[in-house]
Amino acid sequence: QAAFDAEAVRQDFPILQQQVNGQPLVYLDNAATTQKPRAVIDAISDYYLHDNSNVHRGAHTLSDRATAKFEQARQAVADFIGAASSRQIIWTRGTTEGINLVAASWGAANLQPGDRILVSAMEHHSNIVPWQMVAERTGARVEAIPVDESGTLRLDQFEQMLDAHVKMVSVNHVSNALGTINPIEQMIALAHQHGALVLIDGAQSIAHWPIDVKALDCDFFVFSGHKLFGPTGIGVLYGKEDLLNAMPPYQGGGEMIDSVSFDGTTYNQLPYKFEAGTPDIAGAIGLAAAVAYINGMDRAAAAAHEDALLAYALEKAQNVPGLRLIGAADRKVAVLSFVLEGVHPADLGMLLDQQGVAVRTGHHCAQPIMDQYGIPGTVRASFSFYNTFDDADRLFAALDKARQLLM
Ligand code: PMP
Repeated sequence: QAAFDAEAVRQDFPILQQQVNGQPLVYLDNAATTQKPRAVIDAISDYYLHDNSNVHRGAHTLSDRATAKFEQARQAVADFIGAASSRQIIWTRGTTEGINLVAASWGAANLQPGDRILVSAMEHHSNIVPWQMVAERTGARVEAIPVDESGTLRLDQFEQMLDAHVKMVSVNHVSNALGTINPIEQMIALAHQHGALVLIDGAQSIAHWPIDVKALDCDFFVFSGHKLFGPTGIGVLYGKEDLLNAMPPYQGGGEMIDSVSFDGTTYNQLPYKFEAGTPDIAGAIGLAAAVAYINGMDRAAAAAHEDALLAYALEKAQNVPGLRLIGAADRKVAVLSFVLEGVHPADLGMLLDQQGVAVRTGHHCAQPIMDQYGIPGTVRASFSFYNTFDDADRLFAALDKARQLLM
């Protein structure tokens, strides 16, 4: 197993080289958003310095250059997730917009009264609310696949829930609130046996290991660029081509049309049919730079480093009096979601921040699973490959100090 040099990798991330509240920054909020390597920042700056222009309006050189870079970015993302064609890569604003697009477009065209949509009990609000909205319009129903006390999805109960009325199964690959890795390979196979489509919310998996949408055989896969070391404002919807072709447009406007007249309008082909308006060109180019950065590293070694950080942090967490881990599934990413007896998560987060340790506190946009645990929220420390064992030590030292202040 190759060793991973996190200290060297940190040099690629300028933002990490700073003091916060008088201490070197320990950034443990990677599940909310990841930091950007200099290569991403440079690619965006380069684009604005040299190529900025609107795309697909090719009357001049800059527009041609912008268009070429923009479409190369689409191809880079297609290759990165194993899509057969770049036509299957729709640019969105992020995971949220990708799910809304499928729910609104596919859902409105295909759902009927009595149809069922299954999501898990540990979904992010963005994978619950869009389905509730389309269910309300169509008479379909949204149901939650149960999650047990350890934060593990009940695959046996999922299998029992499946029947011919289930039209869509929409689940996160990894839970942002708990860190649980869901058994999506089995879920996709089971759902397909019953004729249901599957959307995978890859917001929390995309940064951790290679994704192959063809091997997974999922029908849709969505993620956000900003959780993959790319910029905010850009995301990806992958879909099977026949499904995307059959779906009605999501938004109307420029770019998504073939021709417009007051007698009627015809729509553009994939992927432009779903990309109304001027897209986030710099965002796509920045995301492509992030993909190139990740492709340039030893991803297996990075994942092993994250696993080692998780094991180390889990062991340290056992020695903190009153700490209750929320979500202790066997398969999880390097996320520690926890509560400290008698302490409000927000107070703890503030005391950690005062010591230069950045975590997230609250319900993590996953209120149903917090309700199941009977808590308003947690403190969440989420690690990336650029975190070190020293970062974990700093987290637990800061926790100790906070406990002394609060108790
Ligand atoms: N799903 C999951 C699992 C997430 O972690 C997030 C981001 N916290 C989202 C969806 C929403 O992503 P975005 O806000 O980038 O659209």
